Amino acid sequence: MSFTNGVIWVVEQQGKRVAFYTLGCKVNQQETASLMKLFRKRGFRVVDFKKDADVYIINTCAVTHTAAQKCRQVIRRAIGRSPAAVVAVLGCYSQVAAEEVLSIPGVDLVVGTSGRSRLVELVSEAMEKKRSGEWPAKGINAVEALDGSLDFEQLPLPDDPRRTRAFLKIEDGCDQFCTYCTVPYARGGVRSLHPDLVQERLSELVCAGYREVVLTGVHTSAYGKDLGGGVNLPRLLRELVELPGNFRIRLSSVEPAEVTEELLELLATSPRLCRHLHIPLQSGDDEILCRMNRPYTAEEYRKLFHLAREMIPGIAITTDVLVGFPGEEERHFQNTFNLIATLPFRDLHVFKYSPRPGTPAAAMPEQVAPPVKDRRSSCLRRLADELAASFARRFVGETMTVLVERRSRKRQGWWEGLTDNYLRVFFPASQRKSGVRGEFVPVRILEVGPRDELQGEAVEN
Ligand code: SF4
Repeated sequence: MSFTNGVIWVVEQQGKRVAFYTLGCKVNQQETASLMKLFRKRGFRVVDFKKDADVYIINTCAVTHTAAQKCRQVIRRAIGRSPAAVVAVLGCYSQVAAEEVLSIPGVDLVVGTSGRSRLVELVSEAMEKKRSGEWPAKGINAVEALDGSLDFEQLPLPDDPRRTRAFLKIEDGCDQFCTYCTVPYARGGVRSLHPDLVQERLSELVCAGYREVVLTGVHTSAYGKDLGGGVNLPRLLRELVELPGNFRIRLSSVEPAEVTEELLELLATSPRLCRHLHIPLQSGDDEILCRMNRPYTAEEYRKLFHLAREMIPGIAITTDVLVGFPGEEERHFQNTFNLIATLPFRDLHVFKYSPRPGTPAAAMPEQVAPPVKDRRSSCLRRLADELAASFARRFVGETMTVLVERRSRKRQGWWEGLTDNYLRVFFPASQRKSGVRGEFVPVRILEVGPRDELQGEAVEN
């Protein structure tokens, strides 16, 4: 529990200010939200990262070279802002490069991707000892080894009453070892939250007023693999959709090889499940997919895409694409571009490959030059804009159910919300004055606004 044998740091830090900065994915964002809750419970006041604070906590990402660089910048910024404050760094980057993080003068504490539920205690101990001059100037490395004994770490659920959507982490870790990815090294193997606990936590979120729950994980479609007894994602979903309450469920990323007909069938038949799948493609070329250690071919992906659209009319399929992987020549990139151009994606997230230390791809020859990556990435981003607008246009004239999130900050006098198939919709606030936030409202779509935003009018139920 603490660095001092036998001493449990009982912490009530009334009024102490803690500031958070999060880099990276939704899992990290959700974990930060949970940690904020832990700190608040112990009397801390959460303040803006740009303000003076007693503690700065940086939740890091190691997915790209740029992410790691940004982490170092943010850490230095925090140290510069208030040298007397405790600076604690956690997350994927600190898990894989703890000593590198610790070598930044002014970092007090490095924690990885486990053991975060005791962060308040660790930070409190650092605060006390730093004040009395007992804390080592070089800081302390509290990163735990990610071995097979790790359990799923449960952090508190978020409780932000202004939000309608909550993220519920049901899985952590990954065993796939795609050759470009640091995640299996940073997060360890697959660990799943027991189905009973998922049900319990989802019910808590629904009772707290959340109307949409996004099931997240590092490799979400591997859910249950470690639990045995036939537990898997479709079986879990079948139980979750039967829970009482007014809510819907969205899935975060699912791997192509793990999207089964059983899963598609469930999405097709349960109105509780959002018609949205994020299925990372990464490349549309078989040679590159093989070098990436991705277990499917471009043709299998294409078939899956069409099957999903056939079984689930109106489904939004979004994806990730990685350009400039070592050895990606023009012909490989063209295969990716051509495949995507024929598949009506809702959206693409385009990433430029950057070597991550310790991964097999970092040692591969034929690294692609940065200007080539830039050109390929811009090319796909333009295609993404076209695909997004064309997907949105298909719904003009239809009435869609919108989960109203808020009064729009972007458009004065409008409500905004999200459909189950991941379209952002605006309708005039004059049509529904109040009490509509967090409600499912039918909206007739009238036109497409900038890029892929839809504009419409609320209609009676
Ligand atoms: S599936 Fe591949 S890309 Fe995704 S986390 Fe696992 S190793 Fe990384």
